[in-house]
Amino acid sequence: MTGRDEATLSPGDTIGVLGSGQLGRMLSLAAARLGLKTHIFCPESGPAFDVCAARTRAAYDDDAALSSFAASVKLVTYEFENVPAHTAAFLAARVPVHPNPFALETAQDRLVEKTFINGLGIATAPFAPVDDLAGLVAALDRLGRPAILKTRRMGYDGKGQAMIRPGDDPAVALAAMGGHAAILEGFVPFTREVSVVAARGRDGGFAAFDLNENEHADHILSVTRAPAAVAPATAAAAMDIARRIADALDYVGVIAVEMFVVVENGVERLVVNEIAPRVHNSGHWTIDGAQTSQFEQHVRAVAGMPLGSPRIRGRVEMRNLIGADALDWRALMAEPGVYLHLYGKHEARPGRKMGHLTRVIEP
Ligand code: AMP
Repeated sequence: MTGRDEATLSPGDTIGVLGSGQLGRMLSLAAARLGLKTHIFCPESGPAFDVCAARTRAAYDDDAALSSFAASVKLVTYEFENVPAHTAAFLAARVPVHPNPFALETAQDRLVEKTFINGLGIATAPFAPVDDLAGLVAALDRLGRPAILKTRRMGYDGKGQAMIRPGDDPAVALAAMGGHAAILEGFVPFTREVSVVAARGRDGGFAAFDLNENEHADHILSVTRAPAAVAPATAAAAMDIARRIADALDYVGVIAVEMFVVVENGVERLVVNEIAPRVHNSGHWTIDGAQTSQFEQHVRAVAGMPLGSPRIRGRVEMRNLIGADALDWRALMAEPGVYLHLYGKHEARPGRKMGHLTRVIEP
C-alpha cells in the first residue's frame, strides 16, 4: 500500500509501532498528545510498553501475531531500523507502512546505503565491500589506513566495527565481524559530527530542525548541541542533502542523516555517514527546544497531518544519561533550567541509555 491515497488519521485512531524502546515510548507520548493511540509490537518488553494503549509481545516472524497487529492499527511505523525485511513486507501487504520498506532496506545495509547516497551525487566515505581476507587486503590497498571495517548490517553505537591502523593485522579486524558481510570505509578526518533531523510529509512537504552537532563518548552519543557551530552555507547544504535523500526514498516520517564536517583549505565540506529511517537520539532536544518535537512531527507525517513548525526556541544542549549517570536523577531534577526525561528502565547497565536532559538558553 502506498501513502498517496491513504486517509488522514483522526483522534482516537491507533498507530502500530515496531519496537518497544525509548524512541517508541516518546512516539507514544507524542501520539497521545494528538489524541492518537499506539499499539507497540516487540519481541521484548521495553519502556514503550508502559505508555501505549495496546501491546503485543511476539517474534517478528510470528505471522499470526503480525496479522492481528495489522488488523488493529491504521498504519505501521517503527522506532528502529533492524526490522526484518519479511516483517516489513508482510505488514505492508496489509496496512500502510511509513517510512516505506524501500527506505528501511536502504538504511539497513551500509553498502546499499552508501551506493544509494553516492548515486544521488552526495559524498560518503570511500568504501568497498569485503567478503574475505583477500578482499580486505585489496580494499586496504585501495583505501589506505587508517580505515574502518564495519558489518554491513545490524551495527549501532559502534558495535560491529574495527579500526585498522598502520601495522594492524587485518585478519583480527575481519574476525571481529563474526563472519558477517562487511564493508571497509576510508577514515574521514572530520572536525565535527553533525546530523539533520527532518520530516517529510505524505505530500512531499519537508521541515528540518536546526542542524545538530554531536559528541560521542565510547561510540555512544553523549551530547547534542543545536544549532551546530558551522558556516550558514554548510548548514544549508546539510539540509539540502537530507531533503534530496528523503525525496529519493519517497520518504514519509522523520529521517536523520548523520554527516561529518571536513575542513579543507578553510572550507567546510560534508560527508554523509549514515541514514537513520526513524526518529533519532540527536533530535531529543526538540521535545523541549523546538516548537514541534521530532516525535510529534513523525506522528503528524505518518498520520497525514500537517507538519508542525520546527523552529528552535534558543540555543539548546541535550545530554544523554548513560548507565549510572541516571542515578543522579534527584539532583538533575532540582537543577534550574533542566528538562529531565527518564525512560523507566530499572537497571542502569553501563552503556545503556537511561534518559536524557535538555537545557534551552532562550535568546
Ligand atoms: P557509525 O556506526 O557508522 O555511526 O560510526 C560510529 C562512529 O564512528 C561515528 O559517529 C564516527 O565517530 C566514527 N566513524 C564511523 N565511520 C567513520 C569514518 N569512515 N571515518 C571516521 N570516523 C568514522
